[in-house]
Amino acid sequence: MADDDYAEIREEVRKLCAGFPDPYWRDLDRVRGYPTEFVAALTSAGYLAVLVPEEYGGSGLGLTAAAAILETIQETGCNGGACHAQMYMMGTILRHGSEAQKQRYLPGIAAGELRLQAFGVTEPTSGTDTTSLRTFARRDGDRYIVNGQKVWTSRAEHSDLLLLLARTTPRDQVTKKTDGLSTFIVDMKQAVGNGLTIQPIRTMMNHNSCEVFLDDLVVPAENLVGEEGQGFRYILDGMNAERLLIASECIGDAKWFTQKSVAYANTRRVFGRPIGQNQGVQFPIALAYAQMRAAELLVREGCRLFEEALPCAEQANMAKLLAAQASWAAAEACVQTHGGYGFAEEYDVERKFRETRLYQVAPISTNLILSYLAEHVLGLPRSY
Ligand SMILES: Cc1cc2nc3c(=O)[nH]c(=O)nc-3n(C[C@H](O)[C@H](O)[C@H](O)COP(=O)(O)OP(=O)(O)OC[C@H]3O[C@@H](n4cnc5c(N)ncnc54)[C@H](O)[C@@H]3O)c2cc1C
Repeated sequence: MADDDYAEIREEVRKLCAGFPDPYWRDLDRVRGYPTEFVAALTSAGYLAVLVPEEYGGSGLGLTAAAAILETIQETGCNGGACHAQMYMMGTILRHGSEAQKQRYLPGIAAGELRLQAFGVTEPTSGTDTTSLRTFARRDGDRYIVNGQKVWTSRAEHSDLLLLLARTTPRDQVTKKTDGLSTFIVDMKQAVGNGLTIQPIRTMMNHNSCEVFLDDLVVPAENLVGEEGQGFRYILDGMNAERLLIASECIGDAKWFTQKSVAYANTRRVFGRPIGQNQGVQFPIALAYAQMRAAELLVREGCRLFEEALPCAEQANMAKLLAAQASWAAAEACVQTHGGYGFAEEYDVERKFRETRLYQVAPISTNLILSYLAEHVLGLPRSY
């Protein structure tokens, strides 16, 4: 399973990850803790700032480098879910923020002094139907007053900044429902206790997701990103990068599961021979491997197109869909290969199994990707 793109970065990330072995993640999983030391190590090595341009203190590399980093993190058994959002969210500030915002936030983000980890889009009553969200930001002189609620805001307790999507014009007053939404940068340190309340949600895996309540939260108008009413487009604009990076994590997960399955199938002896000698054990592992390899090609193609500023929504969506399916197939094969031990915490298979399941639902569910392909790529009628 050799990978040649950014081989040196992969090697260095592997070395860093070796300092965070399975017991570290197992212990955090038990207490639903945040991997503070791991995120600090990634930050000080500069990996979370690879996409930030050099003029703002980052390394100015492309999406392929970021994908290689996240894939390697997952492949080693670590979990980039604690910090991956920074990589794709900073793009919103970079592409649509004012020069003052870029100067104010990007160097701090690159240096790790400002954590941009929280993304407030989903709401309890809107879900996948993003444009029906109800959180409202009312302009009041040189500030906005925000009221509403977000759900599944991951890492909210461990972020300094929240990228928030809110309505600024009621839905019944806009011609297109995608209009009238705006994006804000919320300083969480100031906001918590002053209109912003965070409530963690206990989930099947350790993802530090939260409910966020906004009650008359004051956000300075200078924190509006780009133009008022155009926020949905800015968020959509970042989706391709998000899809490709999450897909690369799924590729890494699939590799971890496959390595684990092969190692166990070669050593576990039942009926006097390795279980891996049975084709019934081999085939699901081999099939998941083939699925992963195919998805990996799409991830690379999507990253290449993205870096060349060419249209890549089709590739990004398909990469995310197929990579998430491949990691799930590899996870399923891994549990089956391990028999009863697949359920034992100390083997880490059950933990990674829970973790990788997420990616068929979030950040976008499989159905919505299929619906995108059907409508926008194949020209079938819109279903919703
Ligand atoms: C652990 C976790 C972390 C998350 N982190 C974040 C975060 O940081 N920030 C954030 O904003 N959000 C986050 N999310 C939210 C995530 O993006 C949503 O859960 C996801 O978009 C689906 O929305 P929903 O849960 O409301 O499902 P719903 O929209 O209620 O959908 C439920 C099911 O119905 C299906 N469905 C709905 N409409 C259609 C349709 N028209 N056609 C076919 N099928 C349909 C969906 O595919 C899904 O399977 C996170 C979610 C989880 C679980």
